[in-house]
Amino acid sequence: MRWSWKIANILGIGVYVHATFWLLILFILYSSWSQGNTIAQAAAGVVFVLSIFACVVLHEFGHALTARRFGIRTRDITLLPIGGVARLERMPRDPKQELWVALAGPAVNIGIAALLLFVSTAIGLRFDWRTFSWSGSNLLTGLIEINLGLALFNLIPAFPMDGGRVLRALLAIRMEYPRATWIAARTGQALAFVLGVIGLFGNPFLIFIALFVWFGAEQEAAATQAQSSLGGIPVQCAMLKNFQTISPDESVTKAAAYLLAGWQKEFPVVWGSQVLGILTREDVIQAIQERGPETLVRDAMQRNVDSVGSDETLEGIVGRLRGGKSRALPVLHHGQLVGILTMENIAEFLRISTAVAHRSPK
Ligand code: ZN
Repeated sequence: MRWSWKIANILGIGVYVHATFWLLILFILYSSWSQGNTIAQAAAGVVFVLSIFACVVLHEFGHALTARRFGIRTRDITLLPIGGVARLERMPRDPKQELWVALAGPAVNIGIAALLLFVSTAIGLRFDWRTFSWSGSNLLTGLIEINLGLALFNLIPAFPMDGGRVLRALLAIRMEYPRATWIAARTGQALAFVLGVIGLFGNPFLIFIALFVWFGAEQEAAATQAQSSLGGIPVQCAMLKNFQTISPDESVTKAAAYLLAGWQKEFPVVWGSQVLGILTREDVIQAIQERGPETLVRDAMQRNVDSVGSDETLEGIVGRLRGGKSRALPVLHHGQLVGILTMENIAEFLRISTAVAHRSPK
């Protein structure tokens, strides 16, 4: 993540802190100081917040180390003011593994709370159930409450939270993955709606959580949907197979004629069996405008276009298409041009496979 600094490397996983996290610490110091607190009190506030984030890091390591047991590596763990993010290299395909990975985070917080409860009971602190408070609250009891809160909040069965993954995994044991994702996302949004309505009549903080859950569910569902639809699917399923190529010695006028006659907007420039580059609609128009209709394709085309193999999976290629300068990639099979891949093709493929996945059950 940009604007993040590495603060540690624990068990081979880099732990990063995002710049905005330090702003949170400064804010706590400032608000404590402006309330007329002593430096010691302000420092205690910071220590408390740092302990909370230590628990958040342990939570993320719960996910990361469980994923490691299933052979999935974690790229890094980043601390943000709203919590932690462990970037797993991939999500487990097996729903039971996903279930364990998702549960491991909240389980760590419950474990910490149990440990601290043991310690605070040992040093003589008592919880009074009638007043629902501790006999002497301090850092320890505060952390117990925070950890239980973290566990409960993360178990809300809605998508950005671990609970959403737990729900999806439980559903995916019985049904297709994309359908499980869809149901889990809709359940999360229904929950967000109820939270929002309750929030309207009382706690405005609930509205904030509801919005967070709503958009998180939407985003996460879309991402997992795309990924699960694209994961494991070879390029050849989504590529354009009927296409027009063009020779480098033709003029751009010929390309303009192809543009008018068909719907293809990018043409592979082919010499013999070799792909030299790609000529796009923009290249054609620009060449005609700037250098005239007699300009040769070889002078207007984009060279150094990377190509993809027909048996590569779509998952990794979407990023390359989005980030790359070319909107179309030639697809090769044993060095032979067999197709072209564009974002429109992939979108089309997704639309169709989503329609199949969402087909209402009869
Ligand atoms: Zn988590």
